[in-house]
Amino acid sequence: MLQVENLDVHYGAIQALHTVSLEVRQGEIVSLIGANGAGKSTFLKVLSGIHSASAGVVTFEGQQTTKWTPQQYVKKGIALVPEGRRIFKQMTVLENIELGAYLRRDHEQCKKDIETIYERFPILFERKHQNAATLSGGEQQMLAIGRALMSKPKLLLLDEPSMGLAPNYIRQVFELIQEINNDGTTILLIEQNAKMALSIADRGYVLEVGKVVLEGSGAALLNSEEVREAYLGG
Ligand code: ATP
Repeated sequence: MLQVENLDVHYGAIQALHTVSLEVRQGEIVSLIGANGAGKSTFLKVLSGIHSASAGVVTFEGQQTTKWTPQQYVKKGIALVPEGRRIFKQMTVLENIELGAYLRRDHEQCKKDIETIYERFPILFERKHQNAATLSGGEQQMLAIGRALMSKPKLLLLDEPSMGLAPNYIRQVFELIQEINNDGTTILLIEQNAKMALSIADRGYVLEVGKVVLEGSGAALLNSEEVREAYLGG
C-alpha cells in the first residue's frame, strides 16, 4: 500500500533522514519506534505532505506522492493524527470532528459517520457541545483520532498517540488502534513507547539518528537483544 524508498530529508543544512526505506501493506499495523530526535515526526511530515523530501520515492497504492498537496493526501486516503493532537481548543468537540470531513461533500453520510464516531467514543458524544479545551489529554487524543477517521482514511498515520497520557489512557489508545485496524484501516504508528507499539504491530522498524537500523515482525523486535537494551530497559 505504502512504499518508501531511500528517503532523504533535510532542514536546511541538517539532514534529518538518511536513505529511509519502509513498507506498509494493506491491513497491517506497522510501528516505527525511535528515541527523541530520531526523525520520526519528520518522516510523518513527508508522508502527509507537510515537508518535502530531498531524495527518495514514496508511492501510495502505486502512485508517486511527490507532488501531492496536503489536501491530496487526504483525498487519496491518508490521514494524520499529529503529535500533540493539534485539536482546536476554542472550538467544540463536534466542530473539531466536523473539521476532519472538510473535503467531503457527502453530507448525509458524514452525519452517519459522526454517529459512528460517537458510538466508538461515548465521551465525545457526552461533550459534543463543550469546548475541546475542557477535555482531558486522553480525551483530546480520542478526539484527534475521531477527527482523522472522519476523512475515511485507508491509511492512518499516528504520531506518538500515547505521549503524555496516564497509563490507563495509554492502554485504551492502543486498544482503540487495534479496533480501528480490525475494522479495515491500515495503520502506521510512530511511537517512543516501544513495548506497546511493537506488541500490537504486525511489523516494526527502529529509527536511530535518521536511519532505519532494525526491522522485523513486532514479536521478533520485542524479543531482540538490541531493542530490549535500548528501548525496553534491558
Ligand atoms: P521527537 O520524538 O522528539 O519529536 P522525532 O524522532 O520526531 O523526535 P524529529 O522531530 O523528526 O524527531 O527531528 C529529527 C531531527 O531533525 C532532529 O535532529 C531535529 O532537531 C531536526 N529538526 C526537526 N525539525 C526541524 C526544523 N524545523 N529545523 C531544523 N531541524 C529540525
